[in-house]
This record gives sequence, structure tokens and C-alpha cells, in this order.
Amino acid sequence: MSNHLIDGLLANADPLATFAKLKNGTAYSYRSIFELSAQLANALVNCGVAKGDRVAVQAPKSVEAAMLYIACARMGAVFLPLNTAYTAQEVRYFLDDASAKLFICDPASSEALKPIAEECGSRLETLGVPGESKDSGSFFALAQTMQPTFENAACGPDDLAAILYTSGTTGRSKGAMLSHDNLLSNARALTDFWRFTSDDVLLHALPIFHTHGLFVALNVVMCSGASLIFLPAFNNDDVIDALPAATSMMGVPTFYTRLLNDDRFSADLVSHIRLFVSGSAPLLAETHVQFEQRTGMRILERYGMTETNMNTSNPYDGERRAGTVGFPLPGTQLRIADPDTGQELPQGEVGVIEVKGPNVFSGYWNMPEKTAEEFRKDGFFITGDLGKIDKENYVHIVGRAKDLIISGGYNIYPKEIELLLDDQPGVLESAVIGVAHPDFGEGVVAVIVPSDPDFDPAKTLETIKSQIARFKQPKHIEVLKELPRNTMGKVQKNVLRENLKGVFN
Ligand code: ATP
Ligand code: MG
Repeated sequence: MSNHLIDGLLANADPLATFAKLKNGTAYSYRSIFELSAQLANALVNCGVAKGDRVAVQAPKSVEAAMLYIACARMGAVFLPLNTAYTAQEVRYFLDDASAKLFICDPASSEALKPIAEECGSRLETLGVPGESKDSGSFFALAQTMQPTFENAACGPDDLAAILYTSGTTGRSKGAMLSHDNLLSNARALTDFWRFTSDDVLLHALPIFHTHGLFVALNVVMCSGASLIFLPAFNNDDVIDALPAATSMMGVPTFYTRLLNDDRFSADLVSHIRLFVSGSAPLLAETHVQFEQRTGMRILERYGMTETNMNTSNPYDGERRAGTVGFPLPGTQLRIADPDTGQELPQGEVGVIEVKGPNVFSGYWNMPEKTAEEFRKDGFFITGDLGKIDKENYVHIVGRAKDLIISGGYNIYPKEIELLLDDQPGVLESAVIGVAHPDFGEGVVAVIVPSDPDFDPAKTLETIKSQIARFKQPKHIEVLKELPRNTMGKVQKNVLRENLKGVFN
């Protein structure tokens, strides 16, 4: 039967071609993943999962875990991956919120999660890393007894394929409902835009519970019939070992800064690579420059979010401009609007980024009011990111609307101050936030992580005074050993705001 996502992703794959290679040399052909996903789909049915049911998964990274996504799509179930760092208490929220029919977890955490699954009415099964962990899990054992063929369920473009929870950087994670066509349309746009073909080998060191490693990476590979070097996680040794065999890599900015801090990372090592992609968080212009100096190649930065898949990308052929996220992808419309009125703003002005297209989700699971608030009447989704479009149409992100500081009636974009602070001697990194202030409404607070034990906040403040207007100057500097980050490595400014809310009282 016709299945929109699976037909689009896998119909043309060569069964004999390699889909993935592991560090230990194990290889999976496309045929083997058709068979594996069929066995997993049969096992889902065997566990009582029906079309439309949610299947929550918190399992260690493996090809088998990735194929659970495909198995769900084949049988019309809704795949719900969870961050492996979530604690039992956090998992309870997701199982309950999504009323997951089945919950597949790591055998190592099944004892702790069993009562929670029971409480939420979810059947519990386990999946380890077959071939590596001592226990491959009850679900894998069941799947191995199943037929390696499966008649795909009929699924149209609007059928739900996944509920993917946002990273929870600005508050509680929200479940984005993503349809078969949200995923397929974006996979096709990216495959084309980034020129993926069956000759490509993508180095995969990202987690597979987040949009970047799950949908962007896996869907582009399947859509083009390319193959993966599938690493359990990012570490310099493994990545440096694997780079010579790859043609491309997708990473978050920290991948690139870590590689640049390693002398083994050289132009020779990456001479076989045609594309490095960065996203999920801003890539510092400085990283961009250092990367080009070291390798002679420019990282291609793109912008997306859980709710929309990818929205923009720097060009493949044209100039990849540091500090920008490039142009809207074909099929995606993007505009900059006044956050309050929704009025489109003239070129060059900063406003909220709004997007519309087949890539954009249909709404938040169980949150009709929040969904209604985040869409304009004409169907544009209000991303909550602030940005502007420059004269050559490159999109720039200046920060999140929730992080905008309004002091004495002036809008202050934290990124401008953070960039300046990061350039000061003794500063490793910084986060600038607004904190309630009796005179100004909000006052600027700079949180600094020093790289030098003798770092002197007063001196830094003095130096930057001549470089930014007075109303933007931090009224307080807080020195911390590290910034609070969520499990995706994103800085949690809401935590900083909460901890520092009294500094001006
Ligand atoms: P939550 O919505 O729960 O607060 P989150 O927004 O961090 O969490 P994600 O969907 O994982 O959850 O992240 C999307 C966000 O990541 C975007 O809205 C944007 O703020 C940021 N982002 C993604 N790519 C880039 C980029 N290239 N440059 C700057 N920011 C980016
Ligand atoms: Mg978000």
C-alpha cells in the first residue's frame, strides 16, 4: 500500500548498497534495513500497537533504534524519541503527555522506568545495542522472531509520523506533531540543496532523538541512497579516525570548536570531504574563519527547529556567509515581522522570523491554545527567533524573542554584547540577560565564564565602555565556572534569569 514517507525515502534505494557502517566494522545494507524495519514493525503490531498509536523510545544510539523510526512509519504509528539524558521523572511527563502505547527503553534503565511506564499505562519493552551491549533487549529479541517482510500501512501526506519534543531551552518541552510530508518534503529539499547522491558517506556522530541527527541526517541519507558512518557519540578520536572515509559531516558548533582544538585536524585529513554542515545553535564567526584557515573549506550553516525541520541554508555554490544562516530553502517562505502586530517589516529591520511551507508542523500535541498563539491567520508559524534579512537576502538570527532585553525603553539584543565580551582577554564565553531593574524595567547582566583565573570583571567593563552605547553596557557582571546548559548543550537563559533575578533589588 502506498505510504507517503517510506515510498519517498526508500523506494529507489539499491538493496545491495551500504546504508550504515559501524566503528566495529559491522555494515548494514539497504536490504538489511528493509528487513530489520519489517521485523521491528511486525514486533510493534505484536505488542498491540495500531495506526496512530504513540511509540516512545529512549534507547542508546544504534541502527536498530534508528530503524524503529522507519518501522513506526511503515505501520502508521507515531514515533516519539526521547533524549537519553532524561531522568525517570522527566520521562514520566512525556509518556503521560503523549499517552504512549508502548515505551521502549534501555535494558539498563528498565528497573527504574518500569513503575513509571505502568503508571502511564504504557507497555514497557527494552532495546540495547545489538552486538555490543550484554542485553540487546526484549523488543529486539521479539523482533528477531518476526518475518522480515511487512506490508506497509496506507499513509497519506498528512498522517502523523512523529511527535518530536522541543529541546526545552526556553521552558517545558513541547511536542511538535510532524506529518509524513513535513519530513519527506524537507528531506527532498535538503538532498537537492546540499547535492547528496548515492556516492556520499555521511559521518554521523549526532544523537538520534533530536531533529538534526534523526530527520536531517537520516532522511537525507535515505533519500539520496547514500551511506552513513554511524558513531555512538562525538569524540575527537573516533571522528578523526573516520573523517578520511567520509564525504560529509553534520555537526553542532561544539563539534567544530573541539576539532579545531585538536592538532590532528588538518586540511589533509578532510581532503575527501565535500560538505560540513553546522546548525542547532549559532556558529561563531570566529569558528567559521578558523575552520577555513585550517582546512580551506567553509562550513555551511543552516537554521531549523523541531517544529519546522530546516528553514534556511547557506548556499552550496555561492558565498557561505559567517554569522548568517543563508536563504530560505526552496518551498519555504520566510518573513520578518513585527512581533506584536505581525506586520511584515522592511528589509534590514529586526523582527520575529516567521515561516510557512510543507516543512512546518501542524501544531503542538495536546496544546491547542499554544498552537493557535504561534500561528498567524495566513498560516505563518511564529518561530520565536529574532532576525533580519540583509541587502543580499541572507537571513541573520540575532537571538530569541524571549531573550530580548528592554532597558529604559530600548531594545537590546544580547548577541551583540556577547560577541563583544567573547572577544575580551580572559573571557571563555558569556551569556547576556535582562534582569528586573527598579529604574530601567530591565538591566543588562553579563554572565561570564573566564578562561583566566585572574579575570577582572571591572577591567573588562571599562574596556568595552567605549565600544557600545551606555544603555547596552552591563550593569552587573556575574562570574560563573560554566553556563547552565540543557541536554542539547544549549544555554538556558531562563535558569540564569531565575538565579539572578534579585541582583538589582
Ligand atoms: P524550546 O523550544 O523547547 O525552548 P529549542 O528551541 O532550543 O527549545 P530546538 O527545536 O531543538 O529547541 O531548537 C531550535 C532553535 O535552535 C531555533 O529556534 C533557534 O533558536 C536555534 N537554532 C537552530 N539553528 C540555529 C542556527 N544556525 N543559529 C542560531 N540558532 C539556531
Ligand atoms: Mg524552540
